[in-house]
Parts: sequence; structure tokens; C-alpha cells
Amino acid sequence: MTDPIDLSAVEATGALRRGDLSVPELFAAYRARAAADDTNAFTWLADGPEQAAPGGTLPGADAVLGGLPIAVKDLFCVEGVPTASCSNLLRGYRPPYTATAIARLQEAGATILGKTNQDEFAMGSSNENSAFGPVRNPWDRERVPGGSSGGSAAAVAAGLAPVAIGTDTGGSVRQPAALCGVVGLKPTYGTVSRYGMIAFASSLDQAGPIARTVADAALLFQRMVAGSGQAGPGSVDQRDATSIGWAGGDEVGLPSAERLDGLRIGVPTELLAEGVEAGVRAAFDAALARAGELGAEIVEIDLPHARHALAAYYVIAPAEASSNLSRFDGVRYGNRVQSPEDGLVDLYTKTRHDGFGPEVKRRIMLGTFALSSGYYDAYYGRAQQVRTKIVEDFRAAHEQVDLIATPTSPTVAWKLGALTDDPVAMYAQDVMTLPFSLAGVPAISIPAGLSEGLPVGLQLAGPAFSEPRILNAAHALEQALGFDGSAPRATVAAAGGDTR
Ligand code: GLN
Repeated sequence: MTDPIDLSAVEATGALRRGDLSVPELFAAYRARAAADDTNAFTWLADGPEQAAPGGTLPGADAVLGGLPIAVKDLFCVEGVPTASCSNLLRGYRPPYTATAIARLQEAGATILGKTNQDEFAMGSSNENSAFGPVRNPWDRERVPGGSSGGSAAAVAAGLAPVAIGTDTGGSVRQPAALCGVVGLKPTYGTVSRYGMIAFASSLDQAGPIARTVADAALLFQRMVAGSGQAGPGSVDQRDATSIGWAGGDEVGLPSAERLDGLRIGVPTELLAEGVEAGVRAAFDAALARAGELGAEIVEIDLPHARHALAAYYVIAPAEASSNLSRFDGVRYGNRVQSPEDGLVDLYTKTRHDGFGPEVKRRIMLGTFALSSGYYDAYYGRAQQVRTKIVEDFRAAHEQVDLIATPTSPTVAWKLGALTDDPVAMYAQDVMTLPFSLAGVPAISIPAGLSEGLPVGLQLAGPAFSEPRILNAAHALEQALGFDGSAPRATVAAAGGDTR
């Protein structure tokens, strides 16, 4: 029989439902690999498939996901499971409830394999801002996996989990997926409930799947968005005031397209001038040429304000973060640092001083400043105006084209430590993903090829609720490109050894 690790999630769920594979057997196969991991992708591993299951019971054999193990980014609350958003402030916290996106996957039959490493409170592009240490890229362990969902992307790339869940505020699902050679989908803002996700920037945060194939990503997205399967009003989560559920007309099915005939794909030429490496550009151009062969029409488009997305995002996201993170005061959540003689202000100060890492403190200071009276209009107000301009750019572009394509990241994975002393250079890594985040539109990253032996991601985006079209186009292109992501899976047993 084939090794269960070699099955895609779609294949594995089929085998589970048919009884060709048992839930404990599949779980144990991934559990053993995850325990031997040398990339630091996990912050916690379940002992068995029942451990994090609601009520401790395994899903029935007829459940859609059949007992598929999933890896979950640390910032999702899971009842009774350590959840720290990779911050020392929350280290050891075990929430009393489960995030809706994860609960819906569990209802559909997913089991939780473990929690994955990330940048602290999802702030970062390299996973080096984690209180649990950096994650290593399974393609080259001297390099970063991208961030902030670096653990989720590394786990899928190294075959430590069949699929993983991440969150994307400015690129944190798409960019690590690109740098690790896997698929990452950021859905339309509001489709997946944010309830139970430890917030970073509330107007941007969105949960999404990271997977080996586009079909696997669709399989998970389907369940994250619609719970028991009904699209429409039934998929709205009353516990998240911004939840809109699945309001797209078309059902989110598994993608099956083989051709791209009649599809118009826009390439924002000006945005591509922003520091894209030659090897990345070459892989991107080759992927576009394939899209052309499949019948797509490639046209140049103008997104005149997209290059200002970086500046606007790094005002808006820290502003929202400074407000969201004010709840971590040592009184209500997480760890408290206090000496007997301390008053309330000392308690706040010491807790936040010791609990937050340097990048989080930088963002709180930036955000608090941008929101302070006298500066609010000049910074936050202005950034929101730029955001509106970007939304209008996308509306105009989509009168001309169905989808927009860019490289997901301007570079391939860089060496650990290479950008840690230069926050602005680190922020610039998000230049391709941020415009879509500010506009709230869906976007996917799929592996397009290699440059210098490292994966290059292709980003495909469309208007709100165009996920079915994006997934179909990405699937057709994925088949045509034939990217082979098996190399890092082969490195685990050799490099690992059971470390736990
Ligand atoms: N890298 C971006 C940041 O640091 C995006 C992070 C994210 O999407 N969570 O804010």
C-alpha cells in the first residue's frame, strides 16, 4: 500500500471514509514525523486524535473530512490546548473555547494534530519574531520559511501535516506558502469567522488554509466558510460582528478546470517594478506563458495606488494592533509580572515590558502614535483614504480583467537573520500581498517553479467572493506547471530523529 504521507488531503479523506485507512493510523503517521521535526514548526503536539476533539470523541466515519489531521496556527483558540500566539505574555494560556473556523473543521471531521509556530501576534514576515524561536525552511534549513504563518507552511512542505490553517493580515498565509513551495489561500475578508482568533488588525485578519494542492485548500476552505455545508446566511457567525459568511453565488466545490479559455488575467506592471528578483520574475513570466497556452488572455493593468499599500498598511495594522493588544494587561489574560510592593501601573508596565517582544512593542508604539490626538488625521485618517483609493483601483481593474497575477513575494526565502536588523526591509517583503489585503479581496499563492533551488509563488487574486474562479484557475495552472514539492518531505526522517 502507498505510504499515507504521500496521499493528498482529498485522497486521504476518501481513504478514511472508505475505511482503507484508519483515523489513528493516519494520525500516528503524521504524529511520528511531526515529533521528529527539526524545523521548529510546532509549538504543541496532540498525543492522539481524540485529545483536542470536542468531548474527546473521534468523528464518525461518514464525516466529510473523515478524521483528517490538521495543524493549526498557534493564534487560534482551541479549548484546553496551549494557545499563546507565540508570545511570552500568553505562554501557558489554555482557552476555554474554540475558534469558529477550527470548530467548523472539527464538525466536518478534522482532528487536531498540533499548534504551529508563528511570529508573535502574527507580526512579521519571517517567523523570526516568535517567542518559541524561529522556524526553518524545509527546503533549506538556513533560510526563513516566511511569516507570519511560518510553522503552518513549513509543516505542510515537510510533510509533517497534510494541511494547516494560517491567518493572513497582510500576506501571512500567501507569503510563507510561497517561500515553502505550497498552496495558501487568503479568502475574502469576512467569509471565515474571526471569532476565537487572537486579533492582530481586525479590519484585515482573515483565516485561510495552507495545503499541498489547490484542491486540498478548497476542501478546507469549503468547511471553514460554511460550517455544516450550507452557504448563504447559515454560514454567518453571530459571534463575529464582521462575519458575512459565504455570500458568493457559486458553490465552493472542489476545483476541476483544466483550461483557462476566456479568462482575462491582468498583470499590474508598475507594481512588478518594485524590486522583484530576476529569478522570481523569470518563474512568474514562465507561469504566465503557461496560462496563455491554457487559453488565458494576459493583459497589462494599472493599479495606480497599489505601491502606496505598504505605507498605508504599516499605519493601519499597527494602529489596530495597539488597540487590540491593550487587553493584555496582566489582569484579564495571560501572564502577570508583579512584585508585592507594585501598584496597578507597575503591574501593567512590568507585564507588558516582559511579555511582549521587540517587534510587538515597535508596532504598539507606532500605532499608539498614529492614533494619538493631533496626529490621527495626518496618519490614520490619511492611510484610510489611501486604502479607499486602492479599493477603487481594484474595482476599476476588474471591469477589465477576471483575475490579477503577481509574484507572491519579490524574493525567494532569505537567510535566517538577514533582515532582522532592518525592519523596513522586512516590511518591504510584503509589497505584493498588501494591496489585496487592504482591498479585502481573495488571493491564492501556488508554487510556480524554482529560482536558485528555492520555491517561487504565483499570486492569483480576484474580486470579493471569486474564490471558486480563483481556485479553478489555480488548479488548472497547477496541473500544467507540474511543480514537484516532494523534495523537502524526503529530508525529515534523515535530518530529524525523535527529539521529544
Ligand atoms: N508581514 C506582515 C506584517 O508583519 C503581515 C503579517 C500578517 O499577515 N499577519 O504585518
